[in-house]
Amino acid sequence: MRNLVTGGSGFLGSHLVDELMDKGEKVIILDNFFTGNNLNNSRWLNNKNFELIKHDIIQPITLEVDRIWHLACPASPVFYQKDPIKTAKTSFLGTLNMLGLAKKMNAKFLLASTSEVYGDPEVNPQSEDYKGSVNPIGIRACYDEGKRIAETLTFDYERMHGIDIRVMRIFNTYGPRMLSNDGRVVSNFIVQALKKQDLTIYGDGMQTRSFCYVDDLIDGMMKLMNSNFLGPVNIGNPEEFTIKQLAKIIINKINPELKVVYKKLPADDPMQRKPDIGVAQRELGWEPKIKIDEGLNKTINYFQNILKK
Ligand code: NAD
Ligand code: UDP
Repeated sequence: MRNLVTGGSGFLGSHLVDELMDKGEKVIILDNFFTGNNLNNSRWLNNKNFELIKHDIIQPITLEVDRIWHLACPASPVFYQKDPIKTAKTSFLGTLNMLGLAKKMNAKFLLASTSEVYGDPEVNPQSEDYKGSVNPIGIRACYDEGKRIAETLTFDYERMHGIDIRVMRIFNTYGPRMLSNDGRVVSNFIVQALKKQDLTIYGDGMQTRSFCYVDDLIDGMMKLMNSNFLGPVNIGNPEEFTIKQLAKIIINKINPELKVVYKKLPADDPMQRKPDIGVAQRELGWEPKIKIDEGLNKTINYFQNILKK
């Protein structure tokens, strides 16, 4: 199998690449290194099954591949809001280019979509048939609407050209290789706590998220690609926490003396998020196995080592 992984030097992409390479498959990465780092792929740089191409997916490219795992797109609000027009272009033009490649090569195509297609949801938990509540002109729209048009394009390529597609709606995922300045809540809280700083809670901390450990997520991604189910399918861990609870768990693990400090809640920040994973359980036989306690311990270990360097 010749696999193309877009965004393969990023957090999730690099874990997926490890999984594919460990299985002896061929992997080509396309990445512009906006939030990715080739150190995440250092194990493979001299392997004959591996190729890393610095390329921005906004530009078309032709490669001989059998499967496309399309992950390229900044995922942290801090990074996707840095240049929102670029984020929208990556989601729209980048996905269009990768679907064009899938059509040319008759390759299977998996889109890494997101729970953000549900916006600030009025229902909890969110199942795949919920149509969402997205502000189309807000500061998160470049990403949320970007992923919605990416899903639309993917399903239209299936309907018009018979491309074999998979659409995965990923809920908040965490683990080793998140950037220490990534800005997402788990890495922020762990890095702050390890540096003996106050943990920054945005708003009153009563908003909720449900956190999936990266190994479970990659397992779900592999199962989806290998299944006959087009999607969309939610992949995430349904155990829901308020942000305040998460801060407390991390403080208790790292240093119970630490305090939290409250900051302004960013615009359009979703108030609740929890995946309904019934479809993944039924269609893929998948559910997460790693509890928050174990996942956080592994992630804290990772950041302890990074911050020592
Ligand atoms: P990440 O920022 O670590 O990785 C994204 C990768 O894409 C990086 O290596 C970056 O350099 C690359 N990239 C960005 N724009 C590009 C472009 N125009 N051309 C080429 N490469 C480009 O993010 P992640 O957490 O690994 O997320 C991967 C995918 O999963 C994204 O599509 C994201 O939307 C989706 N997702 C992730 C989460 C999560 O919690 N981690 C949740 C929902 C969806
Ligand atoms: N958040 C927070 N402090 C931080 C970073 C994030 O309170 O230092 C909050 C953020 O406002 C949101 C939640 O944590 O309500 C999850 O944020 P993240 O950026 O991780 O992901 P997303 O909002 O995209 O789910």
